[in-house]
Amino acid sequence: MTRSAAVVGGGISGLASAYRMARLGHRVTLFEGEDFLGGLGTTFPYRGGHLERFYHCIMPTDHALIGFIRDIGLEDDLLWRQTRMGFMYRRQVYPLNTVMDLLRFSPLSLTERLRMGLLGLRARAVGEADSLDDITAADWVRETVGERAFEVLWKPLLSAKIGDHYPALPALWLSSRMNRDKGARIEVKGCLVGGYRSLIDAIERRLREQGVRIRLGTRIDAITRDGEGMAVTPAGDGRERFEVVVSTLPLTLFQRATRDLGLDPRLAGLELDYQGVVSGVFLLRRPLSRYYWMPWVDSGATSQGAIEMSNLVPLERSRGLYVTYLVNYTHRDGELFSMPDAELLAAYRHDLESLFPGAGDGIEDQFVFRAPFVEPIWTVGYRQLRPPTSVLPGKLYLASTAQVYPRVNSWNSCIEVVNEMMRELAAETAPFPVEVG
Ligand SMILES: Cc1cc2nc3c(=O)[nH]c(=O)nc-3n(C[C@H](O)[C@H](O)[C@H](O)COP(=O)(O)OP(=O)(O)OC[C@H]3O[C@@H](n4cnc5c(N)ncnc54)[C@H](O)[C@@H]3O)c2cc1C
Repeated sequence: MTRSAAVVGGGISGLASAYRMARLGHRVTLFEGEDFLGGLGTTFPYRGGHLERFYHCIMPTDHALIGFIRDIGLEDDLLWRQTRMGFMYRRQVYPLNTVMDLLRFSPLSLTERLRMGLLGLRARAVGEADSLDDITAADWVRETVGERAFEVLWKPLLSAKIGDHYPALPALWLSSRMNRDKGARIEVKGCLVGGYRSLIDAIERRLREQGVRIRLGTRIDAITRDGEGMAVTPAGDGRERFEVVVSTLPLTLFQRATRDLGLDPRLAGLELDYQGVVSGVFLLRRPLSRYYWMPWVDSGATSQGAIEMSNLVPLERSRGLYVTYLVNYTHRDGELFSMPDAELLAAYRHDLESLFPGAGDGIEDQFVFRAPFVEPIWTVGYRQLRPPTSVLPGKLYLASTAQVYPRVNSWNSCIEVVNEMMRELAAETAPFPVEVG
């Protein structure tokens, strides 16, 4: 039965939700607060093309995302390449890709290196066991690799993803992440020949073909009840009535918009903070290294490491220049997050010059981007706290990064959550009872 539906948020969760709902035959309106679609995966124009604001890659195990790309008709544009990871410790770079690399990793003793290998085996053996949800990743890792190896290697790796909130992370999240990256002997990552812009644009075209109304620059302030149905209130505008609302906002923003709905306190009062990110994008005339990703530790830098995108993405997309991201995962209330652009870029430029002598002369262009709600700061026991996708059955649904746990926060995990949400929505809005499979 056709319903009128609002989808709030135009990142990948909102785009995939709108696409799936329109295919079910619902009349969909998509509300996005910014003037562009794509959320954290969005891009900026560069020399007649587009580059991602934040580094993004696709993993061979991202089956839900790859399936979605196939649906949209861009599968032939997927490009897979071998990538490598380097690890900078006290300004010296070590490759860290194979068992042999680990065995040669001289900052650790041989016993410590062997214990590091043991951690990988342990993660594979326990998989996503519930018991891992009850202990912190830091304790779990320390117990296997020892205190020093934790300090030298693991603590920097954890904080490179979540900043100073790493002590809160559950072991389940880490094990899930280690198992996502495992498998193939050669590390392979994927990208789209035309970048994320080509995917976002193709989804937008498909949405418009399906009759989805897209309202850009329309920030939703409130989601409320309206008689038997629901309503959304855009900032500075009147309420609009819908039968179904799907929110894809980060949890904090969803809780704010639904504050008058009297939702279950386990959802309305769930405390899930988010780590933000600041990122410098440098267009360089020469590459820094052959590594895709290189965290740096004890090397006197402001940034936590570099992602050399051009070791994955063809150079033609950046007009022959090497695209390099320097990042810090940092809270939106932190000093670094509010540092003026010029100061931040100067600090990042200093990192480049001091860690890669001569790199400063090769900088052609530089940009800075920030995002306040990126990585949910998971805490021990989150599996029990994870919000449901069906909030008010038949009326209000949630598909957001707050539900990807224990999977990593990625476009693939977001699409998996949307698929879970859609199964419930389809069953609960069906004209006759349907069992959710
Ligand atoms: C530095 C960085 C690196 C990453 N690397 C990868 C990677 O390599 N691979 C990968 O798959 N993923 C990666 N990710 C994660 C990925 O970007 C996220 O998992 C994904 O984009 C989340 O999508 P979303 O739609 O749930 O949220 P978002 O992208 O945050 O979208 C939410 C949308 O809602 C809009 N909005 C907010 N408030 C309102 C409102 N009140 N009304 C209307 N609209 C509103 C926002 O403007 C936004 O467009 C990375 C993220 C970052 C920041």
